[in-house]
Amino acid sequence: MAHCVVPAAEEILDKEFPVLDKGFVRLVDYYGSDERIVQAARVSYGAGTKSVSQDAALIDYLIRHEHTSPLEHVVFTFHVKVPIFVARQWVRHRMARMNEVSGRYSVMKDEFYVPETSCISVQSKDNKQGRGEALAPEAAKKIQDEFIQGQETAYKSYSEMIDGGLAREIARINLPLSLYTEFYWQMDLHNLFHFLKLRLDSHAQYEIQEYGKVIFEIAKKVCPMACASFENIMHNGVSFNGEEMQALRAVLAGKENPLTDEKKLKRFNEKIATGVQL
Ligand SMILES: Cc1cc2nc3c(=O)[nH]c(=O)nc-3n(C[C@H](O)[C@H](O)[C@H](O)COP(=O)(O)OP(=O)(O)OC[C@H]3O[C@@H](n4cnc5c(N)ncnc54)[C@H](O)[C@@H]3O)c2cc1C
Repeated sequence: MAHCVVPAAEEILDKEFPVLDKGFVRLVDYYGSDERIVQAARVSYGAGTKSVSQDAALIDYLIRHEHTSPLEHVVFTFHVKVPIFVARQWVRHRMARMNEVSGRYSVMKDEFYVPETSCISVQSKDNKQGRGEALAPEAAKKIQDEFIQGQETAYKSYSEMIDGGLAREIARINLPLSLYTEFYWQMDLHNLFHFLKLRLDSHAQYEIQEYGKVIFEIAKKVCPMACASFENIMHNGVSFNGEEMQALRAVLAGKENPLTDEKKLKRFNEKIATGVQL
């Protein structure tokens, strides 16, 4: 059986897609495609090639029913450049293989993430992990300047220590989380969808969401059918628990909503109105 070669993916191989102010995502290589998912799923039946619409329906079925092992036959290798605080979140996704630039071996580059003023916001009141309203432009600019100043001071001190002959592994320890790092990251489609479900979600930090969006656009080139099903089922779909199902049935039957608890009602209404799972 031949390698899966997807012309749309071949076109973007090695291209750097910019993210944030200095980051990027690059597809280094891919293995498999929609076709491979279908082959893997059908192997047990020994069935021959089916039509494109049947392939799409099969992939959709697999994703709907969480029959995910055929998705593991599609593999991506990305090269990403991200601020360290984004990398900290990224590496929590353990079902991957990665190689990161070594600050013990190499001198780290003078590259730090500086958020746009529109991204500089106050602490959210209802989400302990999130940000709320953006600061007024003048106040945001002041904070942005403070970030830049701190980064410049940290890098100056780092450079002086390096120039003075200090070991790179110790000179780096005062560099801030905004410093950019780079790594190669390999993941199969099953785990990539899990990563994207969590990191494209509005509860994920804005900066990693931006990477998620670019990774998803790249994945679409490799396996458009699977990505369409992911978007419909896993990304835009929500799940309802037993109480919520009862409420849904009642509302659809024109009856009073049995949910009286304020928080539960809020969660339910939010899911229906916006698809956001609070
Ligand atoms: C919005 C958001 C906020 C977060 N906040 C925090 C935080 O404050 N602090 C923090 O530490 N983390 C935080 N995380 C990270 C989170 O807890 C997960 O570690 C991360 O999302 C990776 O998910 P995962 O473990 O499912 O993925 P992976 O590590 O890629 O694993 C994929 C799947 O493999 C299986 N698996 C992997 N390892 C094991 C294991 N050891 N045992 C059993 N099954 C396993 C599980 O089924 C898992 O879902 C946050 C994540 C998100 C999206």
